[in-house]
Amino acid sequence: MGQLQKDILRRHGLAIAGMLLFTLVYITGYQIEYEVEELNSVLVLFSVFWFGQIFLVSLVWSGFSNRFKDPSLTMPMMLWIITLVSMMMFAAPALRSIIMLGFLNVLAFGVFRLSWREFIGISLYTVACYTLVIFGINYTRSGTLMPEIEALTGIAFLTSIFVYALTGREFTVLRRAYREKNQELRRALARIEELAVTDELTGLNNRRYLLRTLEKQRALSNRENLPFVLAFVDIDNFKTVNDDYGHRIGDQVLAELSHLLRVSIREVDLAARYGGEEFVLLLSGLSLEAASSVLERIRISVESSKLSEAELTLTVSIGVAQYHNGEEGDELLNRADRLLYKAKRAGRNRVELESGSTLQVPS
Ligand code: GH3
Ligand code: MG
Ligand code: MG
Repeated sequence: MGQLQKDILRRHGLAIAGMLLFTLVYITGYQIEYEVEELNSVLVLFSVFWFGQIFLVSLVWSGFSNRFKDPSLTMPMMLWIITLVSMMMFAAPALRSIIMLGFLNVLAFGVFRLSWREFIGISLYTVACYTLVIFGINYTRSGTLMPEIEALTGIAFLTSIFVYALTGREFTVLRRAYREKNQELRRALARIEELAVTDELTGLNNRRYLLRTLEKQRALSNRENLPFVLAFVDIDNFKTVNDDYGHRIGDQVLAELSHLLRVSIREVDLAARYGGEEFVLLLSGLSLEAASSVLERIRISVESSKLSEAELTLTVSIGVAQYHNGEEGDELLNRADRLLYKAKRAGRNRVELESGSTLQVPS
């Protein structure tokens, strides 16, 4: 059962509790005021009323009402209650003040839910029923009512409805403003979340995002026994780029190299900027062997690219480690990092695998 359906049922539950109380008060009042023999016809009226009420609730309960424009069935429910309550008023004119409160309760039920037009419709229907009942009572039991008092009651009643409508309107406006504000906040939050995991210079995901993804990848691997590979990629002698060409060119190199990394991997993989000129690639579902050919391709494509407006030729060193089931993320990162430094010591521009094999010895 969905949240919306639960909310609707809770409101219907409230309405039913209110009408149950009304039923008890009415029957008690009827016993005090009228011949008890007549009570049977009133009980029949109540049976019909509760039958309809339960029928409507069961439509909501079963989910059948979801196919209607308004699944809460607020309108049918209000019309039903108002009709039956009017008949009860006709059956017991002396209990009019009790019943009038019943009317107001019904209107309160719908005032925050219905559209402006629907509420006006319901109000007019209520006034029409009330007027009809008064004329009916006057016709069948002339002398029971005082016309002046009835007219005054009618005016007071109309005023109350008017106040209800205004309050409901205000509430609706507030609710709409609140909903819009909420959507705005949700959009802003999504933007902030995105910023929090993105590296500004390169547009790659940052270290925070990498560590989070690594944890997810580990959980998946442990459960499904899926292999994955982590690679540390570090630009060789990058400091000289800054020293010789300036920081601006250095930044350009970083951005262009990031782009190259991103387009060299699949959707399911991740390229992140780990820090300065160090990047980490997560290659999922791959064995060390399969990953090494991807990384070798990346190494060659960096080597053969002209980076930045200074058209620099740079190389990268890469350390590659395969995830061992059950190990910590840190252990995997450390192993890949050690392999990277092994590649650096061995002369740079190479992919260093865990097995000890080096894929490329530069010419
Ligand atoms: P190695 O081959 O051993 O990796 O040498 P390297 O010079 O690449 O390594 P080192 O760690 O000595 O220098 C990294 C340099 O990267 C130093 C730092 O100024 C530069 N760097 C880090 N972040 C940025 C950045 O955001 N922009 C620029 N332009 N340079 C950066
Ligand atoms: Mg470096
Ligand atoms: Mg470095």
